[in-house]
This record gives sequence, structure tokens and C-alpha cells, in this order.
Amino acid sequence: MADVIIIGAGPAGLSAAIYVQRAGRAALVLEAMTYGGQIINTPEIENYPGIQSISGFEFATALYQQAVGLGAEIVFERAEKIEDDADTGMKKVTTSGGNTFTAGAVILATGAKNRHLGIDREEELTGFGVSYCATCDGAFFKGKPVAVNGGGNTALEDALFLAGYCSKIYLIHRREGFRGEPAVLEKLRQKENVEFVLNATVTELLGEPKLNGVIVTDKNTGEDRELQVDGLFIAIGQTPENKAFDNVAELDPAGYIIAGEDCTTNTPGIFTAGDCRTKTVRQLTTAASDGAVAALAACSYLDTL
Ligand code: NAP
Repeated sequence: MADVIIIGAGPAGLSAAIYVQRAGRAALVLEAMTYGGQIINTPEIENYPGIQSISGFEFATALYQQAVGLGAEIVFERAEKIEDDADTGMKKVTTSGGNTFTAGAVILATGAKNRHLGIDREEELTGFGVSYCATCDGAFFKGKPVAVNGGGNTALEDALFLAGYCSKIYLIHRREGFRGEPAVLEKLRQKENVEFVLNATVTELLGEPKLNGVIVTDKNTGEDRELQVDGLFIAIGQTPENKAFDNVAELDPAGYIIAGEDCTTNTPGIFTAGDCRTKTVRQLTTAASDGAVAALAACSYLDTL
């Protein structure tokens, strides 16, 4: 029994837990893996207001300790099902550990996972040249050649951002047409240090212990080409994991929970925060902000029960 059950112990979920506890309510956080979410893989955070530089692990640990220090309970079990009892207004959450927890409100802060290429050594080189976040890691490649893989807005914006301070950007995309905005594409075409590598896929990662190149294979000719780069930014989309909760929260076609800046869902008492919801800016700061908004909305909702 808790006042608010928070699903996910990433920056959004832990921020929500802090705000719930400080509002005098009891927060129970359910986490399937480890605390911290995606940020735990970031070598260095330099864009969180008020903190010049901190590792993702240190940041996540500080957040976790702050939530626990305030009295939040964290249970490392995967939330598998939410049942909404319309009569009592209570929510029942069943976990992989076979437990059922009950609360007046639930905050879904399940995050989103970056889609991976699924090629050899991708996991091993993550943090050693391979990155899924240009805004987090781009500054480490100042003056160096890098590649960006993808054809959506994220890839185009990443390439534009990196073109500002990297010596050379190879924009690798698997076809000719881009999903990303034509205006951004046009800006990229004006950049002298951006080379488009189209109809190509990344098939091999080179370098030991750090990335020093990639092999791209032309989809039409089958020819391989080696690009000497220190960084590879993979921006091929994200995958949310909200299917298990679509009975209580409406999802968009991509699987994100439909919610605006107030973090409410279509079900009273079910809130959402962070990367798992529909939004345009998925950053550490916006995740933390959502956590606060969702927590305070959940506490206000409890007052009405
Ligand atoms: P996205 O729009 O889904 O684009 C993913 C790109 O990766 C596509 O070009 C896709 O190629 C490619 N791709 C997918 N799987 C691949 C694979 N296995 N190998 C190689 N390439 C692969 O993802 P996103 O760019 O992250 O954007 C997600 C959403 O956020 C979009 O709605 C986007 O508009 C939005 N967004 C908005 C802004 C903004 O408003 N400023 C900024 C960033 C993102 P194909 O095109 O061939 O399928």
C-alpha cells in the first residue's frame, strides 16, 4: 500500500518520488532493471542546469539516494499489469515478483529505449565512441570526425549540432529520402563539413578499445567503404515500452503515452512523466520537470478521493 506508485526509476520517476515524499505522501517506485534509466550510460552530463559536469552514474546515484533518503520505497520488480478499480478509485499494480501493490494514483515513467542497430560490438563500444545522444556526448568530439546514422529529425538535428564543432560529419542513411524536416536538411546541405552517405547501412564497427572507424555498405552496389571517425551517433528512433499499460493509458501509434505538459492520461489517477509520453524534447531536464508536474498532479488527485 502506498499513496502513489511510480513505475520506472529513471530521472522522471525518481524526481516524481522526491516530490511525492516532500508533499507528505508515500511513494513506491517499481523498477525492472537498475535505477537511473538511460542517463546511467552517459559518461558525462554537462547540460543539467546548476551542475557543470557529472557522470551519468553519479547523477543517477545522487537522485536515487535523495529519493530513498526522503523515505521513498524502491522495489526492483517489473510492473506487469495495472488494474483500475473504478468503484474504489484504487489502482492495483501486479509485478514480475508476483506481488500486488495498491495505491490511489500511479505515475508511468517507463522511459524509452534508443533503438539499436543490432550489429557486432555495438554494446561494447557504447561510451567508447558509440553514442545515442549527440547533445549529451557531442562535446567530447570537438574537432574530430564523426558519423551520424539515421534519417529522422533526431539524426538531422544531431548532425547540424555536431557540424558546429566537429571537423567532419558523415550523415549515413539507409535510403535517399529523409523523414526529418526539409528545412533542417537544407541547412545541412549548406554545411561544408557534412557529407551525405545515402543508401548505406553501418555494417561494422572498428577500433579497440575505442571506435576509430565504421564500415558502411552501399545497399545498391553491395560495396563497402571505410569511414575514419572517432564517434558514431546512432539516431534511428526510439522504442517505448508501454504496451502492458494500454488498458489504462492511451498510446499513440508509436507506443508513447498520450499526454500533454500536465502529465495526465485519459484515465483519472494515472499520470505519466518523462520520455515515455508524447513530447518533442526528451532531455534530462524535461524528464525531471515532468516528474515534479506528475507528482504534484497525483497528490492533488489523491486529495479528491
Ligand atoms: P524517426 O523519425 O523514427 O526516424 C528514425 C530514422 O532511423 C528513420 O529515418 C529510419 O529510416 C531510420 N532507421 C530506423 N531503423 C533503422 C535501422 N535499423 N537501420 C538504419 N536506419 C534505421 O526517429 P527520430 O528521428 O528519433 O524521431 C522520433 C520522433 O521525434 C519523430 O516524430 C520526430 O519527428 C520527433 N522529433 C522531433 C524533433 C523536433 O521537433 N525538433 C526533434 C527530434 C525528433 P527510414 O526513414 O528509412 O524508415
